[in-house]
Amino acid sequence: MKRIAILGSTGSIGTQALNVIRRHRDLFSVEVLCAGSNANLLIQQALEFDPNTVAIADESKYAQVQEALAPHDIKVFAGNDSIADLMEMDTIDLVLASIVGFAGLRPTLRAIEHHKPIALANKETMVVAGAIVTAAALEHHVPILPVDSEHSAIFQSLVGEPGNVDKILLTASGGPFRGFTRQQLEHVTLADALKHPNWSMGRKVTIDSASLMNKGLEVIEARWLFDVPAERIQVLVHPQSVVHSMVQYIDGSIKAQLGVPTMETPIQYAFSFPQRIESHLPRLDWHKYAQLTFEDPDTETFRCLPLAYHAIAKGGNLPCIMNAANEVAVQRFIEGKLTFLQIADFVEEQMEKAPFIAQPTLDDLFQTDAEVRNSNK
Ligand code: NDP
Repeated sequence: MKRIAILGSTGSIGTQALNVIRRHRDLFSVEVLCAGSNANLLIQQALEFDPNTVAIADESKYAQVQEALAPHDIKVFAGNDSIADLMEMDTIDLVLASIVGFAGLRPTLRAIEHHKPIALANKETMVVAGAIVTAAALEHHVPILPVDSEHSAIFQSLVGEPGNVDKILLTASGGPFRGFTRQQLEHVTLADALKHPNWSMGRKVTIDSASLMNKGLEVIEARWLFDVPAERIQVLVHPQSVVHSMVQYIDGSIKAQLGVPTMETPIQYAFSFPQRIESHLPRLDWHKYAQLTFEDPDTETFRCLPLAYHAIAKGGNLPCIMNAANEVAVQRFIEGKLTFLQIADFVEEQMEKAPFIAQPTLDDLFQTDAEVRNSNK
């Protein structure tokens, strides 16, 4: 039995992970559930999955959760520090890192330092601190198993043949605004940005998909997960979202992983790795997907993608600056304080403005993140 801790259990990835566990109760159990502030759903999940411990970041929700779970012998904690501390528990066999944004970095790193294998959905962790996180994983002999569908596809294509990679072909759906001109983008709304054609995801990642920042974050994530320089990671827009990504080897051969667009497949693969276990999820209907197409991304219109390439090329704390600026910009877009096109403008401005550190420590990265957020309050 693999005992799993879920960071971000109330989110899109967290709830889909619980679907996977619900179907494989003979293989997986829930040891820890952590959420941000959704106490009602956290309580409901705890009553169904009977974890050892739950934690909620929002301390004002502690009493509500504690009261509801008191009769059930489930320990309850609150606050970000508690969530990180729980990652030291001996009874955790695997941590699903599926908190959204920079907030996922600290507990994920703590879990690595305490030898917990990581199923990684929280791409921002790798974007902000890829060098530090991968070094810690190496030092503590901890596997980082990708959950992001593209990275799971690359990981699956590399199984048995990790060397001799010529390039990574990272596919992108193109989001709801594929083919739009800048003029058309001037008038798009939050509701338009949240209508992703193929995937149902949390708000932040859905907006990132619309701006192509998500693909930029994924390029950086892939750079660290697979130790392939960003200039050998090529983004291909593939609107059907069937080919989840590919690896091209030095002889020109290409391996890919395909499947219906559902996150439950990569979540399950990360949970069961190195085994592949049965799933009753729908199979690919080839009649429905008679055509698979690929095109270059429009980097003139969707400027977040080249900004991410620039950030990883320059390195240091620049990806951290970019990530923080993007989190602020997305929040402002949600609040109606920035237009869609202003997201890239804002990110670029912060990347030019914030002090650059070539070899940042972890403390430097926390400070960089805080400075970008505080200077834009
Ligand atoms: P959601 O917004 O749906 O969920 C985020 C989760 O994080 C929620 O459980 C939320 O709790 C929790 N959370 C937020 N802040 C904190 C905090 N400070 N401490 C503890 N928990 C916190 O996001 P997604 O599930 O869509 O995405 C999660 C991560 O996975 C992101 O990094 C995303 O890029 C990545 N990802 C997502 C995919 C998807 O299909 N959704 C695909 C690939 C990657 P609460 O609800 O209680 O506030």
